[in-house]
Amino acid sequence: SAGSTPGLPPVLRVMGIETEYGISALGQAPGEDLHPMQLSNHVVKGYGWATTAQPAGWDYETETPLRDIRGYEISRHQAHPDQLTDADLGMANVILTNGARLYVDHAHPEYSGPEVTNALDAVRYDKAGDAVMAIAAEQAGQSLGRPVRLYKNNTDGKGASYGTHENYLLERSTPFDRVVTQFTGFLVSRQVVTGAGRVGVGQSSQQAGFQISQRADFFEAEVGLETTLNRPIINTRDEPHADAARHRRLHVITGDANLSEISTYLKVGTAAWVLRAIEAGLVPATVRVDQPVPTMRAISHDPTCRHLLTLVDGRRMTAMDLQETYLEAARACFELRAGDLPEPAQIEAKDLFTRWQDTLDALRRDPAELADQLDWVAKLQLMESYRDRDGLGWASPKLALIDLQYCDVDPRRSLFAALVRKGRMRRLITDDEVERARLQPPTDTRAYFRGRVMEKYGPAVVAASWDSVIFEVPGKPALQRLPLLDPLKGTRAQVGAIIDASADVVELFENLDR
Ligand code: ATP
Ligand code: MG
Ligand code: MG
Repeated sequence: SAGSTPGLPPVLRVMGIETEYGISALGQAPGEDLHPMQLSNHVVKGYGWATTAQPAGWDYETETPLRDIRGYEISRHQAHPDQLTDADLGMANVILTNGARLYVDHAHPEYSGPEVTNALDAVRYDKAGDAVMAIAAEQAGQSLGRPVRLYKNNTDGKGASYGTHENYLLERSTPFDRVVTQFTGFLVSRQVVTGAGRVGVGQSSQQAGFQISQRADFFEAEVGLETTLNRPIINTRDEPHADAARHRRLHVITGDANLSEISTYLKVGTAAWVLRAIEAGLVPATVRVDQPVPTMRAISHDPTCRHLLTLVDGRRMTAMDLQETYLEAARACFELRAGDLPEPAQIEAKDLFTRWQDTLDALRRDPAELADQLDWVAKLQLMESYRDRDGLGWASPKLALIDLQYCDVDPRRSLFAALVRKGRMRRLITDDEVERARLQPPTDTRAYFRGRVMEKYGPAVVAASWDSVIFEVPGKPALQRLPLLDPLKGTRAQVGAIIDASADVVELFENLDR
């Protein structure tokens, strides 16, 4: 079967993107501020309300397709968001019918996309998250009586940063120090491809200017467990949500939240292939960046992409040259492992390598060539047009505002969405695909089972986590816990027909027991 040459690590890679969105509520009187946590709670709960067809008077608990993902059932007393009080401040934490988790983290609303196996699905479910947040913001605004804005960015420009995490399933047998030394250079240099662009330099934008990445200024260590203080380039958090003896979930915290579909596609597609190459031992041991923390900033601070980084062996090269080393390793890995991949994954790999190469070549010639593909280039071009027109310096608050409006989740306000509408930003997927991904799970991971049971038997689901679902089944005295430890089990091929054939949860369990 796919991904299983004996003695070699499986080549299908499970991954998922989580994003904390920036939040603000406008038009409130001084002293009447809602705590961001409270605001975020309205957002998360409001989405549940908005997307559930319920007769008036029903509450979340009885009819919602949403349930808590870590075991704290949604409160039985939650009323319509209009009537939410401080007593309801138990933090909202729910699962959606597409298998995603929607919750409040660090006072931000967060969408944790379902597990996927390919870059295009990662794009679909990441965009679905933006669509979820657009609805949620609208709903929260209505219930609070003032606009609630959500932004897909990673800093408030005043010193705070919030994360977009990518998660990749790794083999436990891969020596982690190899991942640390070899993946670091990839993360440091990939910004020229994956950066979201940012007005302001320094954690509090204390210096005027434009830089490639939103997150680069917030990394202070090379490796460590933290995600919010003294942030490390390689995060060692180790909660695999899978068989811990076999797997590790690599928690990548350096990335920017992207609006451009091509940026996201390249971000996860290239990372997944580089990790395969590292596991296969195909990245040369000499590919080690000297001083990764300052190097990450220096690359971000140079939108001409000419900065020369230094490797531990003394070689100097651009970020594109270093990326090309990883691309070569990924190609070598593909040559070795293509036979273990299903055909669509092979096609995606070839497409990915071509786009990656073309992107690096264009960056070498003139980054402006990529203005219809990469977030940071699109944003820089937008800024330059305002600067030319109005003679604005980089310190102008107007440019900071444009930076924010680029990533407003409301398509009516988003400058990114305006570029798309004008045909100035290339896409990989359609609006219909995004809407489907908002409602339906991916078909080839356990997210399929999770999403389908939320949709079909929601009221019977007591709780769920990434690796299990707990049901209350009429006629059974005890709660029924279904473990889903293998992220590649619970797919449509395995359980689709059973779910289709089971009218209720009693039938589901009868059919699963057969
Ligand atoms: P935090 O928000 O504190 O960083 P966390 O990293 O545990 O917590 P969640 O918000 O629960 O993250 O999101 C987990 C993400 O990891 C999801 O996007 C999910 O699709 C993905 N994921 C879950 N299991 C695996 C796995 N075994 N391998 C790779 N990705 C996974
Ligand atoms: Mg999270
Ligand atoms: Mg995380």
